[in-house]
Amino acid sequence: MSRVFNFSAGPAMLPEEVLKKAQDELLDYQGSGMSVMEMSHRGKTFGGIIEKAEADFRSLVGVPDNYKVLFLQGGGWTQFAMVPLNLMRNHKAAYIVTGHWAKKAAEEAARFGEVIIPASSEEENFSCIPDCSDLSIPDDADYLYICENNTIYGTEYQTLPDTKGHILVSDMSSDFLSRPIDVEKYGLFFGGVQKNVGPAGVVIVVIREDLIRDDLLPSVPTMLQYHTHAEKGSLFNTPPAFGIYMCGLTFEWIKEQGGLSAMQTLREEKAKRFYDFLDESRLFRGTARKEDRSCMNAPFVTGNADLDAQFLKEAEAAGLVSLKGHRSVGGMRASFYNAMPMEGVDKLVSFMKEFEAANREAILSETKEEEADV
Ligand SMILES: *Cc1c(COP(=O)(O)O)cnc(C)c1O
Repeated sequence: MSRVFNFSAGPAMLPEEVLKKAQDELLDYQGSGMSVMEMSHRGKTFGGIIEKAEADFRSLVGVPDNYKVLFLQGGGWTQFAMVPLNLMRNHKAAYIVTGHWAKKAAEEAARFGEVIIPASSEEENFSCIPDCSDLSIPDDADYLYICENNTIYGTEYQTLPDTKGHILVSDMSSDFLSRPIDVEKYGLFFGGVQKNVGPAGVVIVVIREDLIRDDLLPSVPTMLQYHTHAEKGSLFNTPPAFGIYMCGLTFEWIKEQGGLSAMQTLREEKAKRFYDFLDESRLFRGTARKEDRSCMNAPFVTGNADLDAQFLKEAEAAGLVSLKGHRSVGGMRASFYNAMPMEGVDKLVSFMKEFEAANREAILSETKEEEADV
């Protein structure tokens, strides 16, 4: 067996201990004689799994009693529709557009009501988080929506926007459980788990109870109402049972590591090691504004497409994989989720140093060309 350092933005690395535990229990889950994949979701055994997963999640995050935790299907994208379908009472909401996913969410919401964009960084090619300290939000907007970590562009909110008393809704898919969450600041937040928590197929929604309505328009599909799932403890229909079980194992792992503040310390150390090198590199440079840089996803380029391609190829041969940047940014992107060991970050930085040294001539001749151009 040889595992690589997988820098993918998602689906992404899971902790090896979690995968091994799942492997151990795969054929015979705790004496049940069957796999979690094979058992009834109405049975006692799975009941125990989902209850423990929810309890562990609640204690990790510190979810107050007046919030529901829902394990749903359909990924982040389904939440782009469920949020407006369930929360738009006045058919109006504000969306801060800071990247691809925030923009897609805003476009989806526009199917159901009026979307106001009080701030956007689109003109800066999403390289930063706009100033959100004094937004102009109409009083009758039902909520303010943000994407807290921009997976593709590598920016992350360092402070939450001033919502001016509006309900805050956040997509936390790519920094979910990487740092403590001040739950009461939000009306609702969600995370597709394939970025930092578990296998694709589960999205976790945390919603304040008073926002769950049972008087939605009759045209809202049963499966797209939070009420449906909240009432049945996420067991309205057959849930993504194996995925929920895997999330539960990850929650246990995070608890063993010391919880969300330990995850935060770890992510900050990883980001520091990477960005310290990036800032002094003469070959590589980051594409996001320094103050807004994400601890989770770091896009970077050499400025030369051929050199980028050569880097990716050589990195892969060295066991550092999935470093290709998203097509809208180009270059490279390294994702440092909870399960990425420090060793992976150190290996990447050493590899980049070596690559830089080996290609010094290319850099020097480019500098000369630039000088000649002036
Ligand atoms: C990946 C991602 C999504 C989309 O998730 P799906 O589960 O593929 O629908 C949404 N938001 C963010 C921030 C993401 O990183």
